[in-house]
Amino acid sequence: MSDKIKKEKLIIIGGGPAGLTAAIYGLRAGLDPLVLMGPEPGGQITTSPEIENFPGFPGGINGFELMQKVIQQVESFEGRLAYEMVDELNLKQKPYTIKTGNQVYQTDTIIIATGASPRKLGLVREGELLGQGVSYCATCDGAFFKGQAVAVVGGGDVALEEASYLSGFASKVYLIHRRNQFRGTKLLADRLISNPKLEILWNSEVRDLLGDEKLSGIVVENNKTNEKKVLNDVRGLFIAIGYNPNVSLFEGIIELDESGFIKTNDRYMTNIEGVFAAGDVQDPLYQQVVTSAGSGAAAAIEAGQYIDSLL
Ligand code: NAP
Repeated sequence: MSDKIKKEKLIIIGGGPAGLTAAIYGLRAGLDPLVLMGPEPGGQITTSPEIENFPGFPGGINGFELMQKVIQQVESFEGRLAYEMVDELNLKQKPYTIKTGNQVYQTDTIIIATGASPRKLGLVREGELLGQGVSYCATCDGAFFKGQAVAVVGGGDVALEEASYLSGFASKVYLIHRRNQFRGTKLLADRLISNPKLEILWNSEVRDLLGDEKLSGIVVENNKTNEKKVLNDVRGLFIAIGYNPNVSLFEGIIELDESGFIKTNDRYMTNIEGVFAAGDVQDPLYQQVVTSAGSGAAAAIEAGQYIDSLL
């Protein structure tokens, strides 16, 4: 680690829609932000096959492509993107300290935009079979299952989108949902229900993963009748059951709400002066690309006003 401490006016932690939009606003306001991009540059939306509800893209856009455009936009304002992960931060006194693998930064103002990560089902062999049939990302892994049967777990927008996307590769898609009604958008659900490759298993939960080194089937239980069945044609299991906020760095340091999201006031301020939060890490409700981007913009405006107040 370099001993040299870099002083920054504004540090944005996270390079998804919220963090990068905060960067665009910060750059245009002359705040010279540094973005610490973290483990998934562009954020989790880069794994989304098709975004149809982001304004300005009639016909939709792929999540990776959208975020490449946002990164280009940040770079067009000479934004500084550091492909570093935060290891540790000290918010006890100002200037605050942020340590990454190869640098120590000091700043009085931070925007946290660390997003969220896929929830796990908690099955015994889920971790072991990850990449061997178990996946949390249809865009990343769907093409490996050309001509094979796959299953998607979940009933939200992501599960509906993934089931539709996978039907482009797979011979069959089982959609396994624990209730008898989808949580996701009606338009997506209506479109999907008429898909001939789809079989919906309502009131159903995955109980077991079969196969030694690779997934070779799953056991599904109907939670109303307790009837179990083995789907021994399933080679890919795509788990799409929502996201948990990425807060491990902040636990015990910043106030979280009862669901584990960073608590902010309506001006995106956390309980620590000069520390703001935006996007999925502080939004238990909407979690849309456009609302994340919007909160990133608002947090940058607030951070700018805070920086001005220090002068
Ligand atoms: P979600 O809307 O929270 O849905 C999660 C689904 O998984 C629910 O149907 C839930 O069942 C089910 N589930 C949760 N825990 C489970 C468990 N342990 N076992 C079995 N099933 C479980 O999550 P999401 O689909 O990931 O979407 C997250 C957010 O992103 C949503 O607000 C969505 O609208 C948004 N999104 C936005 C875009 C965009 O901006 N274009 C695109 C995709 C998604 P229940 O229904 O029974 O609770």
